[in-house]
Formats: sequence, structure tokens, C-alpha cells
Amino acid sequence: MSSFVVDSQPDAQGHFGPFGGRFVPETLMHPLQELEAEYFRAQQDPAFQKELSYYLREFCGRPTPLYHAERLTRELGGARIYLKREDLLHTGAHKINNSLGQVLLAKRMGKTRVIAETGAGQHGVATATVAAMFGLQCVVYMGAHDCERQALNVYRMRMLGAEVVSVKAGQQTLKEAINEAMRDWVTNVRHTHYILGTAYGAHPYPLMVRNFQRVIGDEARRQILEKEERLPDLLVACVGGGSNAIGLFFPFLGDASVKMVGVEAGGEGIVGNRHAARFQGGSIGVLQGTRSFILQDEAGQIQLTHSVSAGLDYAAVGPEHAWLREQGRAEYTYATDDAALAAFQRLARLEGIIPALESSHAIAEVIRRAPTMSPQQLIIVNLSGRGDKDVAQAAEKLKL
Ligand SMILES: *Cc1c(COP(=O)(O)O)cnc(C)c1O
Repeated sequence: MSSFVVDSQPDAQGHFGPFGGRFVPETLMHPLQELEAEYFRAQQDPAFQKELSYYLREFCGRPTPLYHAERLTRELGGARIYLKREDLLHTGAHKINNSLGQVLLAKRMGKTRVIAETGAGQHGVATATVAAMFGLQCVVYMGAHDCERQALNVYRMRMLGAEVVSVKAGQQTLKEAINEAMRDWVTNVRHTHYILGTAYGAHPYPLMVRNFQRVIGDEARRQILEKEERLPDLLVACVGGGSNAIGLFFPFLGDASVKMVGVEAGGEGIVGNRHAARFQGGSIGVLQGTRSFILQDEAGQIQLTHSVSAGLDYAAVGPEHAWLREQGRAEYTYATDDAALAAFQRLARLEGIIPALESSHAIAEVIRRAPTMSPQQLIIVNLSGRGDKDVAQAAEKLKL
């Protein structure tokens, strides 16, 4: 196996090449340094690792299967397709891998309260869940528009005892929810930990979230070697902030034969601002603590975004993805709302699996690529979540 020399460990300030870093007000420097120090201690502590793997297994349901999608493979007539079934995790998406890791850290730091931002509501639900399990107070910030389109998840969070704050500022989606969560953290940092939900934000979050999510790729690597006795040719994952994608990609970065593609939200197409494809229409800038690719206008004002899936509807992308792209290690494309909806329906009917609309973007790319590959080739696609939360919206759009 030839190896690919790729630089993907950040420096001490959290820079992935020219991306990443720590762009925060002075009041957040200390809490971030405290978090970083505690995280590095925990990472080296066998007791922490043991506790984390115990709850990942017994509470979350890991390992998740690597499932051969037989009918999808046959219909597309090309590469053999495997689904990494993160949709089968407790609460229905990969988000809980990270929420669990961070709540254990919060406990170690003696915090009694956790806060989170959420877009689709999946991260809010995962955080409310682990907060309930460990008896911590939990507040989740969610844009008012997202509260509306993901009402089921709002009920779930409240059922779990969390307070859901509907944020009415600006576009009323994820960006505004993150602003409110940061404001809360500055005010209450002594007893509060901010569980950020993706591989984004100020150092150490992108590094820490990636490391909590790399369990996806570690398992997938072991599983494909067991099943096929070789590495996959292609990895595919959708990219919102980038946590499920980096979680799958990271353990394969050194394997030159493994190609990887991240799929952003193409919305209604890459014209104007009816999409959230940062690598297609964006440029380099700083937003919410880090430097990365951002959808902004010439004056640096953050553009409005759109996607059929709330979980991909964000103006910036995680800094490690920007760095992998610049090094030519991973490539990034997009799927439109229509392509994602078609993939949603196709996977449901062919495999008996209703994917999240976010994950459907990755499936759409598989539908495009698999037929161009040979039956000897292998694709692993990350099925980052299940689609129960999206069924009403999809039914309306597909006129079912
Ligand atoms: C939140 C979410 C995403 C997008 O977030 P990433 O950090 O990019 O993974 C993708 N899929 C599902 C199911 C989600 O809930």
C-alpha cells in the first residue's frame, strides 16, 4: 500500500496550514486554553478512553454496521457500495459520538451545565440526551426558522429536559444560534461547557470534534478489511461543518489509493445565494472563531444560504477540510436539493433505509459516480443519519 504524505495535525495554535486558529474575544481565550489542556489530559488518560468506549458501545450502539447495499449496487451497475450506518446510532445520527465525548470532558472539568447550538436539531437532541444521562442542565440554541422545519427535534429536546431557545435574529438559522451560544458561554463559563456540534470554531474544537468522530473511519477501515480484505477506492460523505466527513476520512488520509469526496449543499444551484456550497461560491475569511472558506460578499458580510437540509445550511466549512482540499488530498463537490431528494427516495425504495436529507447529498454523489466505476471497486458512503425527522418535508416536496 503506498502512502500519501498529508499534513493534518494542526500546530499549537490550531492552524491547519493557513486555516483554523483561534479568533475570539479576549474573554474566551482562557476558557479555550483550559478546555484544550483538559482535552489533551483526557486524551492521554486510559480511564477517560475506557469510559468513552464503554458508553459508545453500551449507550450509543457502536460499532455501527458497514452494510453492503446490494440492490443499489446492482441498479447502478458499477462499484460495490457500502453504507456506514451511523443512522443506527442512538438518537439517529453521528452527532452523539461528539456530544458524548464532550459531556464526559465537561464532567471532568466539574461543569454542571452544558449548552449547544443546533441546526437540524440532531446535535441538540444528542446533547440533550447525554446531558439527561449524566444529570447536567442543558440549554440548546436553535434558529427560529430551523425550529419550524425541524419541529420533531424541538419536542424531543424538551422531552429530554433541555431548554430550547428559539433565536429570532438574522436569518434565524444556525449562524445566529452559534452567536447566541457563544454569548451564553462568555457569561456563564465558570460552570458551563459549550458542546459545539461540528468540526468548526476556535481551536481546540475542530481537532477535538474530529478526534471524537474518527471512530467512524477507524471502524469502517477495520470492517472493510475484514469484508473485502482491501481498502476502499472511494469515500463519500456530506459536509456541513464537516464532522461526519472528517470522522470517516481521517483514518484513511495516509492511504494514497483511497480517494475521498465531500459533498456540500448545492441548494437550487450555484448561482446567487440559494445554496451552501462554500468551496464552490465561497472565499477565505474568518467566521465564528476560525479561518476557512466562507460564503461572504466583497465587504465580508456573510451571505444568506439555502439548503433543503437544515444540517448543511451554514455559511462556513471546517478548517481541516479547507486544508485537505488545498493539499489535493480530498475533493469537494455539491448535490442540489433535487438530487438529494431523488437520492432520499431511491435509497428508501431500494434498500429499505430512509436517510437523513443531509446524508442524501452523499448518496446523490454515489448515484452519479458508482456507474462510472468498475464492479471490482469499492465505495464507502457515510450514512450520517436517519431521515425520520425529514419525512414530512420530503413528502411535501416529492408530492407523495
Ligand atoms: C448535522 C448533520 C450533518 C452535518 O454536519 P457535519 O458536521 O458536516 O457532519 C450531516 N448529517 C446529519 C445526519 C446531521 O445530523
